[in-house]
Amino acid sequence: MLKEKTCYSCGEKATTKEHVPGKNLFPRPRPSNPALITVPSCTLHNNSFSKDEEYFLAVFMFSNAGVSDAGSKLWEEKIHRMYKRREAQGLKKNIAGSFKNIRLQNPSGSFSERIAIEIDESRIKNVIGKIVKGLYFFEYEKKMASSAKLNIHFLKTSNDFQFVEKQIQYLKPGKRSWAGVFRYMHYKTEENTDSIWLLDFYGVLHFCIAA
Ligand SMILES: [Zn+2]
Repeated sequence: MLKEKTCYSCGEKATTKEHVPGKNLFPRPRPSNPALITVPSCTLHNNSFSKDEEYFLAVFMFSNAGVSDAGSKLWEEKIHRMYKRREAQGLKKNIAGSFKNIRLQNPSGSFSERIAIEIDESRIKNVIGKIVKGLYFFEYEKKMASSAKLNIHFLKTSNDFQFVEKQIQYLKPGKRSWAGVFRYMHYKTEENTDSIWLLDFYGVLHFCIAA
């Protein structure tokens, strides 16, 4: 008899499935080889495109991700459409309000103006946390312990990357990846439930997560 499927997040009976990462983070045509990852989910934990995911996507279109191939495709097809919808107006204001001009000193000593964005990292971390829980279920075929605390680090400085480079030898690639869009690496000991994750979005956005 088949085991009853349980939700990747809460362990209750699963009635639907959830894409990990959300399918809206992939430009169209959505990849089929390999297929996108799905995990069993209850209705509560299947919010296919939550407000936080919209924010995640919109914020990153203003970052380096926006200039990658996947990023610019996503920008055109998704954000454009999203901004036309009335319900996205709040989001637009929110993002517009977080822009500010900063002065950067160039190596030559001259100054240039640049637009930077202040990111609400708690919302970004909601999205990343959900993805990690989904990937955990996908890789290890069980739910991450409810007691697990996620320590999410958004890699930005060269120190961040140097730290990760030292850890990378311990990590193994995820079962699936999509070049230029999303890939991940992970590590978990057999006897321990602690795990480490490295997520790469569009080749330019990196997160390290200890769970
Ligand atoms: Zn659930």
